[in-house]
Amino acid sequence: MTISRHTCRICKTADNHPTFMGREMMFGTREEFVYFQCNTCDCLQITDIPENIDEYYPTDYMPHTLSETTNKGINWVIRILQKQRCRTALFGKNYKLNSLLKLIVDLPSALYESPNGVSSVGRIITTTGLKSFDERILDVGCGIYSHWLASLEELGFTELQGVDPLIPADQNHGYVNIARSELCDVSGKFSLISLHHSLEHIPNQEETLILIEKHLTHDGVCLIRIPIIPSHLWKKYGTNWVEFDPPRHFYLHSLKSLKLLANKAGLEVFDIQYDETAFEFYGSEMYARDIPLTNENSPLFNPESSLFTKEEMNNFKTLANKVNQTGESGRAAFFLRKTLLSSG
Ligand SMILES: [Zn+2]
Repeated sequence: MTISRHTCRICKTADNHPTFMGREMMFGTREEFVYFQCNTCDCLQITDIPENIDEYYPTDYMPHTLSETTNKGINWVIRILQKQRCRTALFGKNYKLNSLLKLIVDLPSALYESPNGVSSVGRIITTTGLKSFDERILDVGCGIYSHWLASLEELGFTELQGVDPLIPADQNHGYVNIARSELCDVSGKFSLISLHHSLEHIPNQEETLILIEKHLTHDGVCLIRIPIIPSHLWKKYGTNWVEFDPPRHFYLHSLKSLKLLANKAGLEVFDIQYDETAFEFYGSEMYARDIPLTNENSPLFNPESSLFTKEEMNNFKTLANKVNQTGESGRAAFFLRKTLLSSG
């Protein structure tokens, strides 16, 4: 680690900050990139954003590949009854009808699934305080297919939009419409705006949060899922931490820098849910062994991975649960709303 002079793009502190050298290891090019960590707000950030950043998102970049929806083949009558049960489970409506319905249909599995970690979709929706299936929801930086929006569609939500400037063309799947465009081109207000591991890829953090605040309804909520430092894995693996991901991750926020950023945009953090998974453990271990994430034996693509034993994989899951409990997690879901001053 060395020290050099930089200006933090979050808190604007110009000072001598510690610097780190990171390597591209998702695809294993091992190209090097310099980061510095602000000694005031602790945000770890890339020193220079590459001009050719698009080249680091090739067509086989995982979040930009298409998946199948989960509700295909389910009888439409069952879907309607499930939606009724979801309405009760999520919004507390039609309680009497629900007591009959639960004898006929189960709640859809999407309610209990976690889109990117341990927090279930149901728990997230309850935390956001959404009140009906008609509320408008926007997912920012979702790639060509949003598992999150697909899960919400399965539960019964109908006003589902996504936006991502890096996808090849607009995408439409049922009630989910994803536009190939920037957040600044989106019109209207939303009850929920989510960024599932996309904020860290966006160059201008403050401008993005200000735009989100403008696009939120009076009591709207912004959900931000990002990697965070300091974490157990950053301390253990340093620049081999899989969430470092140079050069795609421009910012690795601390709780302090994320709160500061939110406040600058007229937002405040009102809840945090830690959601580390086994992925962060085995991915970091692979990088420490100089193995790219896209290796053919990676557990990400090959569940019968020869890199780790079943016992090791189970141990990674146990460790992930543990750091989520202790707050040493390297991933978290932040729930933001307008501050009292800006909401009037
Ligand atoms: Zn700073």
